[in-house]
Amino acid sequence: MKIAVLKERAAGETRVAASPETVKKFIALGNEFAVEAGAGASAAITDEAYAEAGASVADAKAVVKDADIVLGIQAPEVTLLKGAAKGAWVAALFDPFSKKDLVEAYAKAGFEALSMEFMPRITRAQSMDVLSSQSNLSGYKSVIHSADVYGRAFPMMMTAAGTVQAARCFIMGVGVAGLQAIATAKRLGAQVSATDVRSATKEQIQSLGAKAIFVEDVAGIEGEGSGGYATEMSDEYKAAQAKLVSEHIAKQDIVITTALIPGRAAPVLITDAQIATMKEGSVIFDLATAQGGNVEGSKPDEVVVKHGVKIIGYANTPAHLAADASALFARNHFNFLSAFWDKEAGKPELDDEIGDAVRLTKNGAVVNERLNG
Ligand code: NAD
Repeated sequence: MKIAVLKERAAGETRVAASPETVKKFIALGNEFAVEAGAGASAAITDEAYAEAGASVADAKAVVKDADIVLGIQAPEVTLLKGAAKGAWVAALFDPFSKKDLVEAYAKAGFEALSMEFMPRITRAQSMDVLSSQSNLSGYKSVIHSADVYGRAFPMMMTAAGTVQAARCFIMGVGVAGLQAIATAKRLGAQVSATDVRSATKEQIQSLGAKAIFVEDVAGIEGEGSGGYATEMSDEYKAAQAKLVSEHIAKQDIVITTALIPGRAAPVLITDAQIATMKEGSVIFDLATAQGGNVEGSKPDEVVVKHGVKIIGYANTPAHLAADASALFARNHFNFLSAFWDKEAGKPELDDEIGDAVRLTKNGAVVNERLNG
């Protein structure tokens, strides 16, 4: 099998879908590996490092020619894949709910699109899950960047000139990113609190030494839907949450929002009126800006100042930690394909549970039930 990795074309994308480590591992499985020249440049991986690992390094056309599998971070436009083998697999992020035309184009071209964001949340797929590996880094970066923008220190400091108070840091949404944000803020010495709609997170928050802020008095609240994802909450719950958040938020210095609902716009967790109650100089980092934002008025890659509060958020947070994000994404790709490697056939054979979940197109048609249903 020939496996190919192209340089990412999307604006602001700095990651790359293979590392020298995964190139070696794929070659050890009996494959040929080709990488486009310069593909790793923004993730601190040189062409020489890929070549030393055994990859051929060439231009895009030569890399794609006769490729059986193309690995990507963000799925390339179909035009870039001209010359790839018939029915080639392309494993990458497809953003399938918003990029319907891209998915259609893959179907039309006869490629098999494998959407890494549709990896099921089951134990055996954990090592293949790019949403987890990338969210963890995003949670870390959101705190580090906020600490940089915040004009005060995070830890309490008792100095000869007087005491510096610890920053109060509030994390909204305690999934993979939120848990890492709590841990990072704690390590930096902040006083940390957190909230989520899934009551299972309460214990996790407390086990990290943070304070859990929860709506307790609304009947029937259990925000957990299938696969550990949050569900859309009732109006009664939303009102109770807004009240609780309003009271709490006014006392915070840093707020990190991480709430996402798959296939829908991110829920708005902080309104303009709530921002107005915060202290001058506070910072809000919105990790959901690319999905519409958890904070009223937040804009990807912009610093919006409202009522003296800086509202920030990256369009693509993991791209700001390109080297680690690439290394983990590349391992997710390897863990995914190698788990299904049929040594005799010399190629991967996906099983139904994971294959049906991630496969968007096959034999000229869109085949994923989340898109067709
Ligand atoms: P996510 O990115 O989908 O959402 C982030 C967090 O925001 C979630 O905790 C969610 O409950 C919360 N949220 C949504 N709406 C909210 C609202 N209105 N107010 C407050 N919070 C809100 O979540 P995630 O990081 O992918 O993780 C969700 C769960 O799935 C976690 O328990 C995680 O451990 C689990 N998970 C399991 C696997 C696996 O087993 N392979 C993989 C990934 C995640």
